[in-house]
Amino acid sequence: MAKKINTCSFCGRPESQIEFFIMGMDGVQICNECALQAAEIVKENTVAASRHDSFDRNEIPKPAEIKEYLDQYVIGQDEAKKHLSVAVYNHYKRLMQVRTDDDVEIEKSNIIMVGYTGTGKTLLARTIAKKLHVPFTIVDATVLTEAGYVGEDIESILTRLLQVADYNVQEAERGIVFIDEIDKIARKGDNPSITRDVSGEGVQQGLLKLLEGSVVNVPPQGGRKHPEQKLIPVNTQNILFICGGAFDGIEKKIASRLNTRTVGYGAIANAEKIDKNNMLQYIAPQDLKAFGLIPEIIGRLPVLTYLEPLDRAALRRILTEPKNSIIKQYVKLFKMDDVDLVFNEDVLDYIVDKAIEYKLGARGLRSITEMIMTDKMYETPSKKVKKVTITLAYAQSKLEKANINRLKSV
Ligand code: ADP
Repeated sequence: MAKKINTCSFCGRPESQIEFFIMGMDGVQICNECALQAAEIVKENTVAASRHDSFDRNEIPKPAEIKEYLDQYVIGQDEAKKHLSVAVYNHYKRLMQVRTDDDVEIEKSNIIMVGYTGTGKTLLARTIAKKLHVPFTIVDATVLTEAGYVGEDIESILTRLLQVADYNVQEAERGIVFIDEIDKIARKGDNPSITRDVSGEGVQQGLLKLLEGSVVNVPPQGGRKHPEQKLIPVNTQNILFICGGAFDGIEKKIASRLNTRTVGYGAIANAEKIDKNNMLQYIAPQDLKAFGLIPEIIGRLPVLTYLEPLDRAALRRILTEPKNSIIKQYVKLFKMDDVDLVFNEDVLDYIVDKAIEYKLGARGLRSITEMIMTDKMYETPSKKVKKVTITLAYAQSKLEKANINRLKSV
């Protein structure tokens, strides 16, 4: 009779390929490598379990607290902040929900934010994630395509989440994904250009799977899946998706909906109440459909909110008020060299004026300030000064030289 080969009861490798066995009962034995792996699994699960336990009801930030936190970083946008705060609060509750007999299961409250570019959509999502201490990633919907086309597979959205969670799947499974430019995957039905429709409805169908909650096989290195790559299964059930988009031209769809509803009696009375300068505030799910999102996607994004366009007053506040406002950042940079940096008030107004004049929005505030400050940041560390004051004349001279026109493409 052939001699029975001595193997690991877990991986099946023979004695010759491993260092040693640890013996169990009834001839069961584990090799040194499997034992190590087992220890890792135990460690991971214990951490995950303890994390879950520490998720105390009292620790969940209340919607008002979340909004207060957002207020420290984001100016205005009260509607969006309220919607986000409530959605996130409910999301927490959902993560905590214990299976009960009442059959009431709290569903995911994925969010969609509509607003012009540079009004704070990404900032809001990013700030929320900071408050929650959960993995957070931003993906751009424009890089996604249907399987089989050039671009990234839908699943690669989760690759980034895995990466920021250090490949800890449990952590990633309760993260937040911000999908930017969701409007760019709208169906281009009435559009004469169909060249990019591979990234239209097909991508939306693919996205649906992620939004509704399912186990998705994720390529750990992202990009395209290829046969040799080992895929990591990730359950998206507790991942919160926040989508954002500018939806250029959606105002027309909103207006036409409002008009059709108000035809006839009372039309004039209603029309008078409509604030034409801020049509996005009337956004409804059917407008997203008219724009080209498929109804299934809209159904999976039950929280719909909008961002206000930023006016002069808002831009002025953005410059100085947020906890890490642009001006505070420059002051801090100088403080690290023991220099007090002071901006005269009229300089701040001037920066805002230029951002408006060149239609640069909130993003422009930073580039304009940078143009004004570059020379000072270059010279000051080599000088023995304790204070630097930026005057209007100085700011104007720097900006005139710098050719602000080149910022236009930002
Ligand atoms: P969006 O995602 O809507 O295109 P972002 O959130 O990326 O815009 O905004 C761009 C930058 O402009 C932000 O990083 C921030 O510096 C500034 N910003 C925009 N909106 C606000 C706001 N409401 N409050 C404070 N800063 C803002």
